[in-house]
Amino acid sequence: MKSHAKVVVIGGGVVGCSVLFHLARHGWTDVVLLERDELTSGSTWHAAGGMHTINGDPNVAKLQKYTISLYKEIEELSGQATGVHLTGGVLLAATEARLDWLRGVVAKGRYLGIDLEEISPNEAAELMPLLDPKQFVGAVRNKEDGHLDPSGVTHAYAKAARKLGADVERFTKVEDIVRRPDGMWRVITNKGEVVAEHVVNAGGLWAREVGRMVGLELPVLAMEHMYLITEDMPEVAAWNAKTGTEIIHAVDFDGELYLRQERGGMLMGTYEKANKPWSEFQTPWNFGHELLEPDIDRIAPSLEVGFRHFPAFQNTGIKQIINGPFTFAPDGNPLVGPVRGLPGFWVACGVMAGFSQGGGVGLALSNWMIEGDPGADIWAMDVSRYGDWATMAYTNAKVRENYSRRFSIRFPNEELPAGRPLKTTPVYDLLSARGAQWGVSYGLEVPLWYAPEGVKDEFSWRRSSDFSHVAREVASVRGSVGLAEISNFAKYKVTGEGAATWLDRILACKLPKPGRMTLAPMLKEDGRLIGDFTLANLGAPNSNRGEWFIAGSGLAEQYHMRWFEAHLPADGSVRIEALGQKLTGLAIAGPKVREMLAKVTRADVSNSVFPFMAVAKMDIGMAPCLVGRVSYTGDLGYEMWVAPEYQRAAFQALMAAGEEFGIGLFGSRALNALRLEKNYGSWAREYRPIYGPLEAGLDRFVAYGKEADFIGKQAALAERKQGGRLRLRTFIVEADDADVIGDEPIWFDGAVRGWVTSGGYAHHSKKSVAIGYVAKEIADESDGFEIELLGKRHAARMQPVPLFDANFERMRA
Ligand SMILES: Cc1cc2nc3c(=O)[nH]c(=O)nc-3n(C[C@H](O)[C@H](O)[C@H](O)COP(=O)(O)OP(=O)(O)OC[C@H]3O[C@@H](n4cnc5c(N)ncnc54)[C@H](O)[C@@H]3O)c2cc1C
Repeated sequence: MKSHAKVVVIGGGVVGCSVLFHLARHGWTDVVLLERDELTSGSTWHAAGGMHTINGDPNVAKLQKYTISLYKEIEELSGQATGVHLTGGVLLAATEARLDWLRGVVAKGRYLGIDLEEISPNEAAELMPLLDPKQFVGAVRNKEDGHLDPSGVTHAYAKAARKLGADVERFTKVEDIVRRPDGMWRVITNKGEVVAEHVVNAGGLWAREVGRMVGLELPVLAMEHMYLITEDMPEVAAWNAKTGTEIIHAVDFDGELYLRQERGGMLMGTYEKANKPWSEFQTPWNFGHELLEPDIDRIAPSLEVGFRHFPAFQNTGIKQIINGPFTFAPDGNPLVGPVRGLPGFWVACGVMAGFSQGGGVGLALSNWMIEGDPGADIWAMDVSRYGDWATMAYTNAKVRENYSRRFSIRFPNEELPAGRPLKTTPVYDLLSARGAQWGVSYGLEVPLWYAPEGVKDEFSWRRSSDFSHVAREVASVRGSVGLAEISNFAKYKVTGEGAATWLDRILACKLPKPGRMTLAPMLKEDGRLIGDFTLANLGAPNSNRGEWFIAGSGLAEQYHMRWFEAHLPADGSVRIEALGQKLTGLAIAGPKVREMLAKVTRADVSNSVFPFMAVAKMDIGMAPCLVGRVSYTGDLGYEMWVAPEYQRAAFQALMAAGEEFGIGLFGSRALNALRLEKNYGSWAREYRPIYGPLEAGLDRFVAYGKEADFIGKQAALAERKQGGRLRLRTFIVEADDADVIGDEPIWFDGAVRGWVTSGGYAHHSKKSVAIGYVAKEIADESDGFEIELLGKRHAARMQPVPLFDANFERMRA
């Protein structure tokens, strides 16, 4: 075994081998994979070997498509058969709600280049002869479904990597990982030590244990999973003889089942409701090529449905039931990327569909390690989407929920209950008493809307029970004054004598003067967005004492801290702290809000003294707050930041002062309705690391001419010169009873030319609004657009100026 390597990959399952292959293919050949046993000694060997392109996140779907396209290449490179059978498949809907969901999947496929087609149950039965068409209301055909040999694929990756110069060491167990003072990693094994610049944790079933070697508690949990294999079936033999082809894959969502042919019989697997975690706290190191005891009672309810939906199963025997463990993150997507605070330590774990996702994970991670960027939008897989709040017990609750809902519909207004409430703010009970309906963001309970007694969300793809109540919340903001809790924003404090210089380099905006705020895009080296913030200069006028406050997306706190910390100067001249819930937030907005604010503070909040984008510390009632004159509602408004011990006092003071103005509470759904009519975008929807500031319409906040050589400056200048590829645009949709939720295709002149990033109903303007990206060439057209919603194309009109207060008079008044 070599003593030094650029990269050590820990784990020889499908994911570790894919990472190794991609690193070698990308030119890093001084890389070694350490496997404690034979390759495929975790969950990989007993997988059912199914693969498919469908994923709830379009960017993950793209990487799944890439994974499937890769198998031919690694087979040729390695000479190792992968056993790939691209049979195609059908996705089956037994309910109208499921069919609506499937239509959304077909629509997404149009701009992802995934060939999906809605077909009738009878057409599905012609393709998959075992199903009873009477049990279904519709189906979708997917040509890119299939199955493969899990061991063959893993060995093909490993052999191809070796051919390219990488090393694989089997029977080499990593026992500890120690960081040296020079930043290199000592990877200590039962056979000696390897010193490496980078370590990749692809430990699969043992990813938690490998993480613990460096003090990391990863939010992953293994679940038992069963599939059965039948005896040979005459129906299968007859089909094979008649058509000369295999029986294609089927996913029966309402039965929570997947099926495929296995030799002369069938394989049927299920994600059962009565699921069971495996090795909840510690994975035993002596677990090897073993299976778990099957428990047919647990899967019996799903099998019953399966036998009804696929009647031929009633006349066949079960040859074998496989029960094996594999790991999940709380939301079921992989955990990939560099770990904040551990430079050179990377993870590629929690991959629950290794044969659909392993290639994409390897590609993204190798790009990231070698180029400094994953080269794709992998937010849905980024390990930084979780923070310390994703504890072991939280993970356990969420993974079990996710497993049991693997094939369930999640409606756009559906909030999932497991692992909640976890983080709450001091006004939680006060807002609950006023009818708050809670959602969750980065582990924190967030008020979505306020319901009268006895009313709650009725889950639907269409406008639902909250519609008129959200309209009322919007009306209180636009008509008088509304109050929202906004503690879910990320808040950062930046101090130190180097703060201004550092901010000038890391942010693309012009730095604001003391007492002022600005919108602050943050770019990567390639000139694309990696953040959008509000930056406030809290330094006293004419003082060198740097004190800055940044507010940004709460979801991305860990993501942004990883970026900030990786770019801090080594001399300690800048300190940045993520304040999390050490600072809570309240927002007030509406035409009467200044009058109301003046009643609870002695500070002069007149427009001349405290204009738009001013920021100052002031007391609200008795509570010391930081107040900025800015509002995501697009109305006259203020955002207030307050230590949690004062939040109730500030809230009560504002509510009391607001009484005479008819103050109303509003939640994040009303906030969405309000920002839509201002064309305001937000992080992770409109602003993501695949868009440049010009494309996203944030170029007006980029100080292209500023002296500081900010990160991404050259690339941003080039984008401005070349014009980019896309443009973010707002549309008014001729919708009937449903609004866009995001990821719908935008048609122009009969072809798909863009996609929706977010939208909804703008209650004040009484318009259905969609925001999305379209090709630059058509971005100035006003007509000819259509947006596909629940399987139907609706006419859409470009809305170039905000629907509400286009001249920004209200906000600046
Ligand atoms: C019953 C069942 C059916 C499935 N069906 C499918 C399917 O149809 N399609 C699909 O895509 N996925 C399926 N899966 C999931 C699939 O198996 C996983 O997604 C995949 O195996 C994950 O691979 P991995 O490399 O991350 O982890 P693993 O396969 O667990 O590999 C981790 C490897 O790391 C090694 N290791 C760990 N710690 C150390 C250490 N300290 N030192 C050295 N080596 C170490 C282990 O020995 C192991 O070989 C199924 C899983 C099960 C259980």
